[in-house]
Amino acid sequence: MCPAPSTSTPGSPQAPRVLSERVHTLGQDLLRRYGQRVHKLAINAGFTCPNRDGTKGTGGCTFCNNQSFSPNAQEPPSVTAQIAAGRAVLARRTGARRFIAYFQAYTNTYDRIERLRARYDEALLIPDVVGLSIGTRPDCVPEAVLDLLAGYRAQGKEVWLELGLQSADDETLARVNRGHGFAEFQSATRAAQRRGLKVCAHLIVGLPGEGRDAALRSLERVLNLGVEGLKLHPLHVVRHTRLALEWERGDYVPLTLDDYAGICADLIERTPPAVVFHRLTGTASRSILLAPHWCAWKWAVLNRIEAELYRRDTRQGARCAHLEPPCLARTA
Ligand code: SF4
Repeated sequence: MCPAPSTSTPGSPQAPRVLSERVHTLGQDLLRRYGQRVHKLAINAGFTCPNRDGTKGTGGCTFCNNQSFSPNAQEPPSVTAQIAAGRAVLARRTGARRFIAYFQAYTNTYDRIERLRARYDEALLIPDVVGLSIGTRPDCVPEAVLDLLAGYRAQGKEVWLELGLQSADDETLARVNRGHGFAEFQSATRAAQRRGLKVCAHLIVGLPGEGRDAALRSLERVLNLGVEGLKLHPLHVVRHTRLALEWERGDYVPLTLDDYAGICADLIERTPPAVVFHRLTGTASRSILLAPHWCAWKWAVLNRIEAELYRRDTRQGARCAHLEPPCLARTA
């Protein structure tokens, strides 16, 4: 059952000010299960994207900066080298001694299965790497890849499949040239769940033509599928994208920080407590960010979301009674 909304008043001694006391974050979830800090470590394993090469579409998503798809782009360092460099920084900054190898850049299931296995195995061979988080598109997870990931899970590894859905509205997905619809997300999620894999749905807030209501509809659709994780991200306008042209013409107006924080709070309130938030915002490098300017400042955004939850004196799950039974059952 969802907990009743808190009755404490903002400013009272019992009203939590810390975001992780109002939101079930991945950091807290891992700390509880592993008894120590576990951090995600982002990796670029040198894969590409089928929405660029014609396999799934051409031109890429309208918001995606495609400079990195240049044929002259340098091969990234090995997975081992990236993990060695990243964990040294994270250990110094956070004290973490355990890591999840986060295959983040582009489509990390888009290659021959032998090549995927080699990259994933390379990460898992490092003793302090406890698992994998694999970022990909929902139309790019063949059975063989899911079986491979399920095999790691059977060995006791932490495994997350991160599916970039962005919106559950097919019209919006077509408008931003995603090259897939909600149906692909449904079937990929179900196929992963049949194998016991945890799915994290990636949603973008503020896509062209979308506001609060569309975000709530997308949330409800992914929660009703029983996803275990969520990742929220404001839409960034970055250089060298078709979205940048729309923004320059005045055809796309980004959300304000207050709008974003308010919508995030609405989504958090409507998410069952058992669902893990992997992220509540995302930043873009200032060298390519055009708008909104606040997307360069992760902590300012998180602080605003925290302030909004505090102002409402609310928390994750406070308003999730509308969900269908399979989703609610997971919160018991
Ligand atoms: S956002 Fe992802 S799926 Fe879309 S073009 Fe970029 S890498 Fe490909």
